Amino acid sequence: MKPAPFEYHRPVSLAETFDLLDRYGDGGRILAGGQSLVPTLNMRLVTPRAVIDINRLPGLDAIRITPEGLIIGALARHEALEHSALVREHAPLIAAAMPHVGHEAIRTRGTVGGSLALADPAAELPACAVALDAVIGLTSRRGRRDVPAADFFQGIYTTALEPGEIVTDLTVPRATGGWRSGFEELARRHGDFALAGLAARIRIEGGVILEARLVFFGVGTRPVRTQAGETALTGGGASEDRVPGARHALQNDIDPPADIHGSSALRRHLAGVLLARVVGTLVEASA
Ligand SMILES: Cc1cc2nc3c(=O)[nH]c(=O)nc-3n(C[C@H](O)[C@H](O)[C@H](O)COP(=O)(O)OP(=O)(O)OC[C@H]3O[C@@H](n4cnc5c(N)ncnc54)[C@H](O)[C@@H]3O)c2cc1C
Repeated sequence: MKPAPFEYHRPVSLAETFDLLDRYGDGGRILAGGQSLVPTLNMRLVTPRAVIDINRLPGLDAIRITPEGLIIGALARHEALEHSALVREHAPLIAAAMPHVGHEAIRTRGTVGGSLALADPAAELPACAVALDAVIGLTSRRGRRDVPAADFFQGIYTTALEPGEIVTDLTVPRATGGWRSGFEELARRHGDFALAGLAARIRIEGGVILEARLVFFGVGTRPVRTQAGETALTGGGASEDRVPGARHALQNDIDPPADIHGSSALRRHLAGVLLARVVGTLVEASA
């Protein structure tokens, strides 16, 4: 199929982008990497009046370190994150996750802003953003607001973005000492969306996990942080001994959907497997 006719605009400034968003309202669609938008246009699942291509907005692809943390521009490609020394140093969780996003050709075009705005519950980057306590920068004609990733993702393909706003950046706070991160996912084939995945961080001292962030993807309508699992994992005793309890507690926090790729029970099981595997590796590495 071919897309329904639409007007095409390629603004070169944020002001021009906001003019276009005002002009077309609900009928305007931002185009970034196009890896998700273009197939839905071609299948006529979306039929916007205008496509607003933001690829020429200057500076939005920058990755830089500041006193607040690592700031990743919305137009930074998945591939740039995968190979960035700054990302490896300041957000190793994201560097570890990126090779799992689709295939190389997709990663050379897909962007940070597109992935966050799309809010696919099986996507890697949203889960990493929540696990890292990252903040998503949204900009509109009204100004800028910073939304914690934990509040940004609201449901399947649903976010806190309001009309006229675009994602402009992602800020990962500077890591304090003692935190280690781990990432793993299970998919039928490499490059497929995950059946279940885990973006995790733990703060461990002397073999005891003091704090944890466990954020699953592919098991709910958005990234799912398991506070029951985190509580069971932390607070005294050898870390290895706490994993079975955390694995059990996790089940209270997830209610995975069933689809043609896997049942709810399979995804529950996989989430437990991932928890044991990722935390086990992190604990071992810290010894
Ligand atoms: C075969 C295949 C496999 C894939 N596998 C994976 C995978 O395993 N994991 C994964 O995470 N992704 C996967 N993807 C999706 C891919 O990563 C997309 O690139 C990404 O999700 C969207 O980014 P994009 O820049 O291409 O956005 P686009 O397709 O350009 O846009 C996606 C949506 O976000 C909106 N948007 C884009 N940028 C902004 C912005 N800055 N502000 C506001 N709204 C914006 C658009 O209007 C559109 O609604 C796959 C895609 C394909 C085709």
